[in-house]
Amino acid sequence: MRNAFLSPRAKSDIDKIVQKILRDLGNPEPPLQLEPVRDLLMLDKGYYSPDDPGVMGELVHRLKVAGKQIVKRPMLLFDAIKSFNLKALFLPDKRRIMLDSTVPTVKQRWYEAHEISHSVIPWHDAVMLGDTVQTLSPACHEQIESEANYAAGQLLFFGARFSEELLASNRNISGIKAVAKSYGNTITSTLWRMVESSDLPVVGTIGGHPRFPTSDFIPSDPFRYMIRSRLFEAQFGNVTEIRLLSAIETYCSYRKRGPLGSSEVVLTDDNGAQQVFEFESFSNGYETLTLGVHKSARRVVVPANVSRVMF
Ligand SMILES: [Zn+2]
Repeated sequence: MRNAFLSPRAKSDIDKIVQKILRDLGNPEPPLQLEPVRDLLMLDKGYYSPDDPGVMGELVHRLKVAGKQIVKRPMLLFDAIKSFNLKALFLPDKRRIMLDSTVPTVKQRWYEAHEISHSVIPWHDAVMLGDTVQTLSPACHEQIESEANYAAGQLLFFGARFSEELLASNRNISGIKAVAKSYGNTITSTLWRMVESSDLPVVGTIGGHPRFPTSDFIPSDPFRYMIRSRLFEAQFGNVTEIRLLSAIETYCSYRKRGPLGSSEVVLTDDNGAQQVFEFESFSNGYETLTLGVHKSARRVVVPANVSRVMF
């Protein structure tokens, strides 16, 4: 699945909303604490557990998931959570965010920022919103969800500040790890933001280990996500996931965890010119992350005997 791009209008409106929140918080230093954000926005946070029906006995009349009304007739909120496998919710009348307590803490931070975003984007209506693993993925193409995911990224990475630091930082896996640590976010979400906010052709992939394909591996769609910067999308639209996998396979080691190697990779741009990228892969033990950053056009060396024939 490939990342979605917002319209420039929605992007600029959301950037302004996030900038105002950070300003109202007194421009704090990373990592962003979410409790002061909720206090500022007068939001409440609660948890539910899929094994505990007691806490969610209220009736739901309307509930939207991925922009669609999913409740046909009134049902118990807890039943809705179970039937639609909801991992997070925003209840606008109570100004409450609800999170599934069984979700790992590192993911809860992203989920909470996503729900905070629904609460501050004015055109997200005042309706109850439910989120699944799919809508909470930054690759979700449903507009309302990709807006909430973009806003969550802007919030957790301090909007323009991250883009400025990105220009000065090392665009490699160790640079991503350092930024992830200082912002208190996951390496995966940092890779995502780094690729999307790059001012160069940059591509990233997230997926299984290329040397140890699992039973659900699909050769024609080998990654969970392929993330492209705007320039990569504009100039390398013909580069497929299959091409990226074959590039990674040229250098990827059989280590199960940690650095998996790096190499120069030549990709053909949409004008047919060969371009050199620096590729690097890393396994966090669950997934393999790859970053490919454009370096230069490939210099074609013409052998002396050929040039004599030609000229
Ligand atoms: Zn959502």
